[in-house]
Amino acid sequence: MKLPFIIICDDDVQVLRAIQRDIRNQYRNDYRIAATESANEALDLIKELKLKNETVALFISDQRMPEMEGIVFLEKAKEIFPEAKQVLLTAYSDIEAAIRAINNVRLDYYLLKPWNPPEEKLYPIINELLEDWQAFYKPDHEGIRIIGFQWSPHSHRLKEFLSGNLVPYIWMDVEANKDAEQYVASAKSSYSDLPLVVLKDGSVLTNPDLPDLAASVGLQQKPLSEMYDVLIIGAGPAGLAASVYGSCEGLKTLLIEKTNPGGQASSSARIENYLGFPSGLSGAELTRRAISQTTRFGTEILTPKEVKSICVKDGYKIIELNDGTVVHSKAIIIATGAAYEKLNIEGIERFTGAGIYYGAAAVEAHACKNESIYIIGGGNSACQAAMYMSKFATEVNMLIRRDALKQTAANYLVENISKTPNIKILPHTEVVAVAGDKVLEAVTLRNAVTGEEKSVPAKALFVYI
Ligand SMILES: Cc1cc2nc3c(=O)[nH]c(=O)nc-3n(C[C@H](O)[C@H](O)[C@H](O)COP(=O)(O)OP(=O)(O)OC[C@H]3O[C@@H](n4cnc5c(N)ncnc54)[C@H](O)[C@@H]3O)c2cc1C
Repeated sequence: MKLPFIIICDDDVQVLRAIQRDIRNQYRNDYRIAATESANEALDLIKELKLKNETVALFISDQRMPEMEGIVFLEKAKEIFPEAKQVLLTAYSDIEAAIRAINNVRLDYYLLKPWNPPEEKLYPIINELLEDWQAFYKPDHEGIRIIGFQWSPHSHRLKEFLSGNLVPYIWMDVEANKDAEQYVASAKSSYSDLPLVVLKDGSVLTNPDLPDLAASVGLQQKPLSEMYDVLIIGAGPAGLAASVYGSCEGLKTLLIEKTNPGGQASSSARIENYLGFPSGLSGAELTRRAISQTTRFGTEILTPKEVKSICVKDGYKIIELNDGTVVHSKAIIIATGAAYEKLNIEGIERFTGAGIYYGAAAVEAHACKNESIYIIGGGNSACQAAMYMSKFATEVNMLIRRDALKQTAANYLVENISKTPNIKILPHTEVVAVAGDKVLEAVTLRNAVTGEEKSVPAKALFVYI
């Protein structure tokens, strides 16, 4: 685990050295100590630490400094690390200001200079503050963060890509998470730049393209060779399986995927009919296992890369990717599977990723907490999504064209759904219109038997057809 920081700021170099020495002597095994003469420099450092997902436990600041008063500095620092403890170093003449700060900016302590001997006047106070801080400190996730608006298609695109590629991240909705604002400010960005991706090293990508994001998180973007024995297009279950058997036989194998490995199966909440997994497993878990199995045998995976053209020359197959890369192979396997059918409703494109999702239930499940949501489709995948979403949404409405689920879904899923009270089946029902300002707000449902139409409020509509 990375050690938390103690940050000290005092424009008087001698005082700075003295407090830095005393703090270091006592706390260097458990904390990293940074000291600076400039409040502005300290604020830049704090912003950088925030972006790098570091933690600050304690700020110690002088009150009288030329760039800004210590109280002002501490106030700004607290906006970035609200949990950190704060100590103001004061001369006797500044006591009044320090007392005001205790009330106004929730200063934790003011420390009179000089503090000798530290064993008596410094360490007991700092120990107490740090113990207090430790008691409530939850170590931060050190990985990638996506910061954006919940119902934004751009944010959804990034979340879907990272989760599909099994890259862990934390999602931060600027409208619901106060901490998200600090990241936007620390990155010197504004809301119009969102979404941002903050990487592990603190660098920031502003609304990146998927290939840029993929390269930044370490996904392979270029083939290592020009020639392969077998090249597989599509990394769904079929392509992944083919790659395992290719590379385990010693064939030089390249797997090319346009979105994320796992294909349709990757969005399945629970696959119960896959050979060898009697209690089922999620699509993400199946994908993770398949990727580790195939890469162990030496398969290279390129993602997100789309194959644009294939031609045959001198007995070799030549493919061209959407980024212009050309690869040669002795054999090609096309395992491009199927894609969701798009809804043919006027204006629907406006809400794709902003309330209307093709698959992707798992990515947006938390945002549907306590909401009433709609799922189109009555097949196995729609049933699995409904079961999964029923743990989050208050009500899951399944819109099906037939009169009962049993005509289109597996028996075990129909039974599970009938035992789940917050899943409602709406037979003979289709969506005929969608409405909303920037995000989906309502859908119009039509009963195909009676012809009756009604508009209902809807935060999210998941399509599984
Ligand atoms: C939510 C859900 C749950 C499901 N649950 C089950 C279940 O429990 N049991 C079951 O048996 N089946 C289930 N299925 C069905 C199962 O997932 C599919 O039958 C299976 O994924 C098909 O595998 P595939 O590899 O042939 O194709 P796909 O999974 O469709 O994969 C094809 C891949 O090719 C990629 N691709 C397409 N064109 C290109 C191109 N030009 N360049 C590069 N890449 C390309 C796509 O992006 C995709 O990743 C489920 C499906 C869904 C959607």
